[in-house]
Amino acid sequence: MSNQDLNQLRQRVDEINGELLNLISERASLVQEIGRVKEKQGVNRYDPVRERAMLNKIVDSNNGPFENSTIEHLFKEIFKAGLELQQDDHRKALLVSRKKKPEDTIVEIRGEKVGNGSPTFVFGPCAVESYEQVAEVAQAIKDKGLKLIRGGAFKPRTSPYDFQGLGLEGLKILKRVADEYDLGVVSEIVNPADVELACDYIDVIQIGARNMQNFELLKAAGDVKKPVLLKRGLAATIEEFINAAEYIISRGNDQIILCERGIRTYERATRNTLDISAVPILKQETHLPVLVDVTHSTGRRDLLIPTAKAALAIGADGVMAEVHPDPAVALSDSAQQMNLQQFNEFYSEVLQSIPVKA
Ligand code: PEP
Ligand code: MN
Repeated sequence: MSNQDLNQLRQRVDEINGELLNLISERASLVQEIGRVKEKQGVNRYDPVRERAMLNKIVDSNNGPFENSTIEHLFKEIFKAGLELQQDDHRKALLVSRKKKPEDTIVEIRGEKVGNGSPTFVFGPCAVESYEQVAEVAQAIKDKGLKLIRGGAFKPRTSPYDFQGLGLEGLKILKRVADEYDLGVVSEIVNPADVELACDYIDVIQIGARNMQNFELLKAAGDVKKPVLLKRGLAATIEEFINAAEYIISRGNDQIILCERGIRTYERATRNTLDISAVPILKQETHLPVLVDVTHSTGRRDLLIPTAKAALAIGADGVMAEVHPDPAVALSDSAQQMNLQQFNEFYSEVLQSIPVKA
């Protein structure tokens, strides 16, 4: 075959590419129009029966040289691209995404601005055990000029025989302490039915790792006007974590703080494995503030300071850690909470590591 013949064949291939492009584009416009009609009728856009019928018709007319399976594959890709075109904006860009909102979301809790560039600290006991216990930690927090306290009134425990928290009594203690010490309270809610009630007692609804995909709880938290601190599930991918936040924002509540708290891996040296790179990924992909819980991610007091420094160095908006006046007698997580002296050391060490802004 001469070079001239080859060039002619190539020219014809180029022409066919152009024709295919025109046809695919024309098909796409029609599919978009169908999408708009279906939207008005409220009909589901994906219609597998219709897809199967179209594929059968195409394969029936296939005279080669492609195998039927190859033709099916090629057309299936065209169908898929068409369906994606029909899909609404939410699928292309989530409401929590930077694509949708490039500016950082700042969540304000009793004057503390989470995500405004200076780090936020959330300290407090694992569980609320008594007024005195919470008040002692509150005093230590206030002495440092900090604004937030944490403490669980509803504790999701591995064993049903372990301390489950004081429930409503715990929320009442938290509210009393918050008012007396002028602190914003973060506390976990585990039951969708308790979300509204909790709003009268606390400033931030925490949704814990075990409930990250409790969709009814996410929806309930999305329906109220309270900031939500959403923790990453023990075995949740970043995509699942982001989608859990989308559940909340899609109901109208955009006051969401994400919290990386470690994921379960084969490693046993730490309670969980702190996925530190999740922090910059979440910061890039979403506009929400991101905290790191150094207590539950490590489960080790000796790692609290270095992991907190790492969290802030990699771009986290703040750190959460557990503090108890007497960890040895704590009713939950006694091995990993700091006592008040350790808390002092932790805070001053971590503060020193923060670069002073010019
Ligand atoms: C907590 O913060 O009290 C807690 C139970 O953490 P997690 O849900 O991350 O395990
Ligand atoms: Mn705990």
